[in-house]
Amino acid sequence: MNKKTIRDIDLQGKRALVRVDFNVPLDKATGQITDDTRIRAAVPTIQYLLEHGASVVLMSHLGRPKKQADDKLRLDPVGHRLQELLGRPVQKINTTTSPEAEATAHALKPGDVLLLENTRFDPREEQNDPGLSEDLARLGDVYVNDAFGAAHRAHASTEGVAHYLPAVAGLLMEAELAALGGALDHPERPFVTIIGGAKISDKINVIENLLTKVDALLIGGGMANTFLLAQGYQLGDSLVEPESVDMAKSLIDNAHTNGKHLLLPVDAIIADAFAPDANTNIVSVNTVPQGWRILDIGPETIKHYKAALAGAKTVIWNGPMGVFEMPAFAEGTRAIAQALADLQTKATTIIGGGDSVAAVEQMGLADKMSHISTGGGASLELLEGKELPGVAALQDK
Ligand code: ADP
Ligand code: MG
Repeated sequence: MNKKTIRDIDLQGKRALVRVDFNVPLDKATGQITDDTRIRAAVPTIQYLLEHGASVVLMSHLGRPKKQADDKLRLDPVGHRLQELLGRPVQKINTTTSPEAEATAHALKPGDVLLLENTRFDPREEQNDPGLSEDLARLGDVYVNDAFGAAHRAHASTEGVAHYLPAVAGLLMEAELAALGGALDHPERPFVTIIGGAKISDKINVIENLLTKVDALLIGGGMANTFLLAQGYQLGDSLVEPESVDMAKSLIDNAHTNGKHLLLPVDAIIADAFAPDANTNIVSVNTVPQGWRILDIGPETIKHYKAALAGAKTVIWNGPMGVFEMPAFAEGTRAIAQALADLQTKATTIIGGGDSVAAVEQMGLADKMSHISTGGGASLELLEGKELPGVAALQDK
């Protein structure tokens, strides 16, 4: 990575203003944190800063407040959880920038931790308002961006503030960029990617960019349907995007011309309703009857995809193979997750995308993967070949 990290700067006695991604899921009824993965992922950076003589001022967004304070989206539960994880006090205040925030930040001693309020309570955050960036910059001596999951957004706390302080990457940011960026820029070959999920229109740019880099691209999930439609198959009531058929055709042609293997499902699990208890059947993709829809890849397809993955040295997976939320349509996703788990020690395996990560975790296979990305949107933009604004703004090595 060509960006400076917290390892490259002197931290002794400094106040580190750290953008973390504490955008954790909350239980609607109780407000409790249902998954603290993102808080745990930020701990190594915070520990490192504290161990090297810095004090730490943390900022994050949480949820989608309507540009004003929302008691349900305050960061207090996050502060409590972080305090448990760090085993030291975390001071929390109810403002992001304010005279109180400044006074509190300036009173910090090395080893102290302060958590600011949800950055998105301030309407200037998402506008990337320089006024807010300047206000934030007064709270620290150096800026550390560890919020990979928010790095695709150019907001005041993720991008703007980096122009007012020496700005470096945290350890999570570094690890995410090294894993995803490393695989994309200099993969060990064969390099195979698996793309799934509901809609092709969400991921056209991803597929386009990946086709320039990979040896093979395997397509599953609802998005495969539009590729199948492009080949003239009748798909019954399957989810299809007719407006993307031409794009699907051109991606298939593009793969052919460039000698890339673009694999599509040959069979599918179909259902007579979009429901967990629907009647199901296994059919070849050219025989989906009226009134039925494809909800998972079939056993023949799984066989082909497993074979394509068997010798891979680098694999990136984004998007489930079927409606894995319903057990009847989870087998394709489970089989691919297992195939990747079987590559442990043989290949670099990277999972990006909120639902794919959830699927792998649900299946208990997360610790068999080389890297699980904490940022769905940000990892997609990297796969599209875009530069992330939150990364671009950091100091070069
Ligand atoms: P990710 O979050 O990993 O990037 P997406 O958000 O693109 O993945 O897609 C995930 C969703 O796609 C899941 O909710 C899943 O149910 C849905 N999906 C997968 N296959 C199908 C299908 N054949 N028909 C309809 N929806 C599907
Ligand atoms: Mg998703």
